[in-house]
Formats: sequence, structure tokens, C-alpha cells
Amino acid sequence: MTPDPIQRLTAELAKLPGIGEKTAQRLAFHVLRAKADYARDLAKALVDVVEKVRLCSVCCSLTEADPCAVCLDPRRDGRLLCVVESVPDLLAVERTREFRGRYHVLHGALSPLDGIGPDQLRIKELLARLGGSEVVEEVIVATNPDIEGEATALYLTRLLRPAGVRVTRIAQGVPMGGDLEYADQVTLARALSGRREI
Ligand SMILES: [Zn+2]
Repeated sequence: MTPDPIQRLTAELAKLPGIGEKTAQRLAFHVLRAKADYARDLAKALVDVVEKVRLCSVCCSLTEADPCAVCLDPRRDGRLLCVVESVPDLLAVERTREFRGRYHVLHGALSPLDGIGPDQLRIKELLARLGGSEVVEEVIVATNPDIEGEATALYLTRLLRPAGVRVTRIAQGVPMGGDLEYADQVTLARALSGRREI
């Protein structure tokens, strides 16, 4: 039996992360009640994201035009390269408006238990950039402060330092609005060792 269109839409929506069966059904009925244009725009946006978005051949970020806007922006300082695990991480750094260099997206972090080694990440592309026409002076490793992110940072440091590139790691510490009393030991220890003059 072919499921009716509402059931089919509900089933597809329920495959999205964080969307349960009930929410999926609510969304399906929302689409049904909305103007016909909305469903068409939504469908087109869904197809476009898969068909038009690809990897930037320089920084491996996701883009419609290759190279991406960040790689083409002449106001960006190409001597500074911020290495992130994912595109959402890149967007998070962008939102700070503090960084005017360029990026490199690894698309993951080293995780031997999950079968993710250096070859599964965009590390080859990173090395190619360092040896290419760009003159990169500093690589800022902004991988996540977890076991995989730290392992990746260590791996990149060992790989890049011999090439004469300055490798730095983003500082880690107590989050804004946080309470020292509740900060875990590792976070507080890092905040202390990463202290700076004020
Ligand atoms: Zn790019």
C-alpha cells in the first residue's frame, strides 16, 4: 500500500535530527495549511541545497560558487588561517566579527575508534594550501575542546610546525556568564594556564 502524501511527508520529516513523530506530523499539517507557494519554495530550497552546494576547492567550506566568497575576498588576510572542524563552526567564528583571516574546514576530527583518520579529513588540502601560492604565516587550530578535537590539534601541530608555520590553538576557559564554582576541573585548569595580562 502506498502511504498517502501526508504520511509520506511526516515520515520524511521524522528522519531529521531532533524531530520526533509528533513534531513531524505537526510540521506536515503546517505545510498543508500554508500557502501553496510555501511548499514549492521549501521543496526548491531542499533540492537546491543538495544540487547547488559543493565544496570550495580552496578552503573546503560549502559554497555555491567556487572559490567561495571568503576565499575571494581581497580584504581578508591570507597569512592567517583558522582551521575548523565544520562549516557551522566556521559560521560561529564569523559571527564574532573578530577574525579577518581565511579558513580551512576539515569536515570532522580524528577519531580512530570511529575509523576517522587523517585521510578522512581535509588535511591533504590544507597541506597543499601551505605549499601553494598563499603565504600562510599562522594556522589557528579551532577544533572543538573535546578528545577528538584535541587529538586533531596535536596531529596538526606535529605536521605543520616542521614546515615552519606558526601553529596556535584557540584559548579555552570559563564561558561568559559561567560560575567558577561549577566549572569542571579541566576547564578551570586550562583557563588558568591560558591566562593573559589585562
Ligand atoms: Zn573557500
